[in-house]
Amino acid sequence: MNKFPRSAYVHIPFCHRRCFYCDFAVIPLGNKIESLHGNGSNTIKEYLIFLNKEILSIKHKSPLSTIYIGGGTPSILNPIQINDLINLFKQNYGIDYGAEITMEVDPASFNEDDLYGFIKAGINRFSLGAQSFNNQILEQAGRRHCCQDVENSCAWLKRAYEYGLIKSWSLDLIQNLPISGFKEWQEDLEKSLKFCPPHISIYDLNVEPGTVFKKLVDLGKLSLLNDDESFKNAELTSSLLKASGYSRYEISNYSFPGHQSRHNRVYWKGLGWWGFGQGSTSSPWGDKFTRPRISKDYKKWVTNQCEIKLDYSLENQNNIYSELDEKIMLGMRLKEGINIYKLISEQNWDNKKSEIALQKLLKEWEKFLESGLLIKNGNRFFLSNPQGMELSNQILISMFKWWEKIN
Ligand code: SF4
Repeated sequence: MNKFPRSAYVHIPFCHRRCFYCDFAVIPLGNKIESLHGNGSNTIKEYLIFLNKEILSIKHKSPLSTIYIGGGTPSILNPIQINDLINLFKQNYGIDYGAEITMEVDPASFNEDDLYGFIKAGINRFSLGAQSFNNQILEQAGRRHCCQDVENSCAWLKRAYEYGLIKSWSLDLIQNLPISGFKEWQEDLEKSLKFCPPHISIYDLNVEPGTVFKKLVDLGKLSLLNDDESFKNAELTSSLLKASGYSRYEISNYSFPGHQSRHNRVYWKGLGWWGFGQGSTSSPWGDKFTRPRISKDYKKWVTNQCEIKLDYSLENQNNIYSELDEKIMLGMRLKEGINIYKLISEQNWDNKKSEIALQKLLKEWEKFLESGLLIKNGNRFFLSNPQGMELSNQILISMFKWWEKIN
């Protein structure tokens, strides 16, 4: 079995400006950077030099079956820069025939010519950060684009998909943004469905420390949806997408058959991946490692790492990829859930410890099985849809308590 990671995540940390809910490792460059048809700003060019160095510094390179260029706003880069990046992997790692190569794009940061340029460069799957079609909601969230930009981007992607130029595309929305009540959310979902995206990601709004939203909430100047309103939105999402032929294959992800994100499944299954770029996380053999989030620290780190070679941890390649609690947490997000008996048996614990741990967990989960949030089928446990998936936190908290107890 080839134990070298077959997937790579590349982080492009630039955005035009920071959205009000975002706490990612991003560098806001303002609206004036040359992005469309230009060569990009010097900041971007300099970053790409370090990114290339980091990508090349891996000693044991192996052909990739998925590449994901995320951000930030990767579509701030021009097609030539994306082409160079993909060529770097092609020439130094190799890319499998049929590999999934995804790029995140933001409305208003690319046009249709750019889209064809990205496709020509080798991108065969796009993830569009639409978030909403409602101008007022977009403005309140600090997004730079408007509804018309989202509609244009969707129309270009739909056309490219129908022409057979890309394998798939995803539309990303945020559920429960301020003022996105039932009626507004229904309109957002219905507008999304008009474009028949083969994949839809729907993330719940989280108000993170350090964001504009958090400050406004603390000052009492931003009201969020209450639990009932959020649950009604979630129920609507689940029923409308199900009726439109989508399968909820992960808590936040819906797709038509054959359009699940292969790259994301690598994370959810706890398999190894390379991560490149400022603030990105990699987990080639087990332990996770996050790169510095600040430019100057990242550049210094790349320079040092290039000397010691990043895959020094090859010696540990027989490690179990991730801790049991993380495996359960990630596996439970998936429609198929987990086989807890198998996961525990892979722990190299003695029989007594395995049995005690299993019994304690089953005890924790009894009430969820009774209330129907959790379903057991043979040896598999999975969340019911939509109730279990919407209230998954309760189940995960019980799992973390169990993990603390047995350790
Ligand atoms: S575009 Fe995305 S990554 Fe950039 S600031 Fe907005 S939410 Fe964050």
